[in-house]
Amino acid sequence: MTPMSVEQMLELFSGDENRTIQDAFRKLHANLKFRAERTVVAISGGSDSDVMLDMVRALEPEKNYPEAKLFYVWFNTGLEYTATKQHLDYLEEKYGITIERKKAKTPVPKGCKDYGLPFLSKQAAAYLGRLQEHGFNFAVWGDETFDRLYTMFPKCKAALRFWCNEWGEGSRMNISCYRLLKEFMIENPPQFRISDKCCNGAKKDASHDYIREINATLNMVGVRRAEGGVRATAYTSCFSEASKRGDIAQFRPLFFFTDEDKARYCQIRGVAHSDLYEKYGFVRTGCACCPFGSRFEDELQTAERLDPGLRLAAANIFGPAYEYTRAYRRYKIQHDEMGKRIPGQLNLWDEKEDKTWANATVGGPTLSASSMSGQPASVG
Ligand code: SF4
Repeated sequence: MTPMSVEQMLELFSGDENRTIQDAFRKLHANLKFRAERTVVAISGGSDSDVMLDMVRALEPEKNYPEAKLFYVWFNTGLEYTATKQHLDYLEEKYGITIERKKAKTPVPKGCKDYGLPFLSKQAAAYLGRLQEHGFNFAVWGDETFDRLYTMFPKCKAALRFWCNEWGEGSRMNISCYRLLKEFMIENPPQFRISDKCCNGAKKDASHDYIREINATLNMVGVRRAEGGVRATAYTSCFSEASKRGDIAQFRPLFFFTDEDKARYCQIRGVAHSDLYEKYGFVRTGCACCPFGSRFEDELQTAERLDPGLRLAAANIFGPAYEYTRAYRRYKIQHDEMGKRIPGQLNLWDEKEDKTWANATVGGPTLSASSMSGQPASVG
C-alpha cells in the first residue's frame, strides 16, 4: 500500500466514472483536516469497512493531518468468525496500525437470553417483541380490529398498527409486508421471546461507551446507501451532526458508493477482503448466522465448515428463532400449494429459496411447542 495525498488520490481516480470516489476523497480530506480531532474509525472486518480504512490510510493521516487523532476499533459481538479476527490482523499489518478490540457491553448470547431472540428483521422483531411484552395473545386476539386492540393495549400503539396494517396502504411498516406472517402467527403463536435488542447491547452500547471513553468528536463508519437495510436507510447523506446530547457527529465516507464504484476502487487500490468474501462467497459479514439474515441457512452450512464451534453456538443461541422461521417458510409453501395465495401481499423470498430452507434440517425440521419453549442456551 502506497500512501498518497488527496491530490494524488484524485489523480488516481480521475475521470467521470470516478466522480463519487473523488467526492468521497474531498469530503474525507475536509473531515480529517477540520473535524477529526479525536475520531473513531469503526472497523467491522467487512468489505465496506475495508474500503473506508484504505481511503483513510491512503491519505497518510499522520503526515498530512497531524491534528487528527484516529482511533481504530473493532467491536466483538461475541459471535464472530475466526476469519474476521484473522482479517483484522491482516489489516493491522498491511496499514501499520493497531485496531483496538472491544468486547460488547452485552454479548449476543447474553443479550438473547436477557431480551429475546432476533426474528425475521429488526423492524418485525421490535414490534412483535413489544406485543409480547404487553402480553398479547396472538391466537386469541390476532384477528381483532385495531380499535378494539388499542382499547385493550393503549400503550402499545405502534406495534398494534404494525399488527393491524394501520400504517397506511402498502407501508413497509405493516405486517402484510411479510407474506402470510400474521396468519402463521395466529395459527402458531411463538413460544419464545422475540426481540430486536440484541444489537443494542452487542453493538450500539459498546460503540457509545467507547465514544465516551475516548471523548471522541467524530465517528467514521463504513455504511453505504447501496447496501440497503436499516443501517443504510436511516440516513440520507454522508454526514450527520450529533442529534442529541451525548451523541457525536458521524461521517460515512463511502455512503454514495455504488457496487461498481466499490469494485473499481478495490481493483485499482488492490483492496483484499476477508476470506469470508474471497473464499466463501459471503456478500456481507456480521454476527455469525444471525436470524435477521434471510440467508442464515447458507451461513449455518458455511459455518459448519469454517467454524464448527461457532455454528454450534449459533444453533444453541438462536435455535427457537431458526425453527420458527423455517416453520413460517413451510407454512407459506403449503399455503401456496393449496392455492390459497392472498392477493396484494409481498413475497420477501423467492420460491426456490423458500423450498430449500423449508427442507433444511439444521436444528430440527419441525415446529413443536416443546422444542421452542426454552430460552436460548448461553455459550458463555
Ligand atoms: S446482528 Fe443479529 S446477532 Fe448480531 S447483534 Fe444484531 S441481532 Fe444480535
